[in-house]
Formats: sequence, C-alpha cells, structure tokens
Amino acid sequence: IKVNVVTAKAEELITKLKIEGKNTEADLLITSDVGNLWQAKEFGLLTPVGSEVLKQNVPAHFTDRDKEWFGLTKRARVIVYNKKKIDPKSIQSYMSLTESKFDDKILVRSSSNAYNQSLLASIIAHEGEKKGLEWAKGVVQNMARNPKGEDRDQIYGVAMDDGDIAIVNTYYLAAMLSSPNQKDRAVASSVGVVFPNQNSYGTHVNISGGGVLKWGKNNKNAIKLLEFLSSPAAQNIFAHSNFEYPINPVVKPDPVVTALGGFKEDQIELSKIGENNKKAVRIFNEAGWR
Ligand code: FE
Repeated sequence: IKVNVVTAKAEELITKLKIEGKNTEADLLITSDVGNLWQAKEFGLLTPVGSEVLKQNVPAHFTDRDKEWFGLTKRARVIVYNKKKIDPKSIQSYMSLTESKFDDKILVRSSSNAYNQSLLASIIAHEGEKKGLEWAKGVVQNMARNPKGEDRDQIYGVAMDDGDIAIVNTYYLAAMLSSPNQKDRAVASSVGVVFPNQNSYGTHVNISGGGVLKWGKNNKNAIKLLEFLSSPAAQNIFAHSNFEYPINPVVKPDPVVTALGGFKEDQIELSKIGENNKKAVRIFNEAGWR
C-alpha cells in the first residue's frame, strides 16, 4: 500500500483536515490522546469501521462507542518525584497533589495540552465537576512555576530541583531510561515513579489511536492499515520503539516499561473522557491553569 504521510501538531493537523474537507488527500488519521481523536470525531472527519479484526485486537473501552476511532497504543499518566525529598506514600492519588504541604513543588505542562485535559476529564467522569475544579485549583496553588515545556522537561525539572513532583506520561520516562544520551538516562533514573489511584479507580490510561477519514479515497486500504497496526507484529514494533503499552493484550510491553511497575489501570470507557473534554477545558480556565 502506498501512503502519503503528513505530520503536524495534533490540533493543527485536525484543523487542517477540517478545512480540507472533501478535498483531502488523506485516508487515515493517527494521533495521540483521546481528546484529539474525540475532536476529530466532533468535526465529522471520521467514518465508522465495523472490522472484526479491530474488534478482536483493540479492547472495547479503548474503542470509540461509534467505532470511529481505535486505540493503537496506550500510556499511563503518572507522578514522578525527587527521591531525596518526597515520600512516595504521600502522593498515592492525583488528589493528594492538592495538599498544602506540596506548595511550590509541582511541575506540570500547560492545560492547552490534551494529556492534562484528559486527566481532568477522567477525574470529572469519576468524581464530578466540583472535585475536578478542586483538583485543578489545588494543583495550580502548588505549582513551582508557570506551566512550560512538555513532559520530558518536567522530569528534567525534578532532577534540577525546579520542583519535587511532576505529572508525566510513562513513555517519556521509559524513552529517557533507554536513551543513548547518558544525561537522559541519569535524569530519568534519579526520579521515582508512582502509579496513582491504586486504592481507588486506577491510574489514568490514555491512547494513541487512529480513525479512517470520511472523505478519504482509499477507505479499504486505510482499514487494512489500521488492522495491521493493531496486529501482534506491528504492536511489537510499537512496544520497543515508542515505549508505550501495547493495546493488543497478547503483546508484552518493552522490559524497560515493565520495570516501571505493574499497576491497576482505570477501566473507564475512553469515549466518556472525550465527552468531558470541554468541561475540563472550562475548569482549567476557571482554575487559572495556563
Ligand atoms: Fe507525548
């Protein structure tokens, strides 16, 4: 199959596809985070796919309820901390980050990023909007600096003492631990990791995923490619190259990822997190999380 690949920041790519509409050259959208996939669906860019192969390879809660997008890999949003200063027992839930003892200690990226939006959307889905606002306000209160950089920069920030606690996706940590760059490895191994909410509904898990574009000209091939990407052969390539967790339960994660620790995943249907995205964005604004 011949494919044209266009890469861009998720938000820009989805907007571009919306503007192009019927004139698009693209057949398949692949992007990170259910927040972005949800947005593509909201814009009417995707078409439902009734594939038995995808049904078998991708667990139902990582599949859009209308079968317009499918998870291809998954990641957990975890807490990393300075091992010399923080007792991991004190940061066992996302909500614990709002405690006043962590004033001036938390590093986290901007709320314009889908990863934080989806984390807050999951808190809203489980605990309601009031708790969601409480969480966002509490984290803002405890920030060590205004949000800047991406997740990797927060891990570096903990190592450099800019703050003691950060919220990051697992694959950044695993990629740094496996990096050819000695400094990356030293920084990543200097921090501890906590999988939050093990005593409640589990750690927030999100996906990278894909959907077939409604105006694409090669729908059949796009479906075949999605099916291949969810197959054990492709899932093994994903696992050892991007350090995410395979979506297909028959494939094992990379050993570096496994070494981060086993954990209970939040089992919520990701469609519900997409649904709460707008509420999350509104609450972040209200809380003053830049
Ligand atoms: Fe990322």
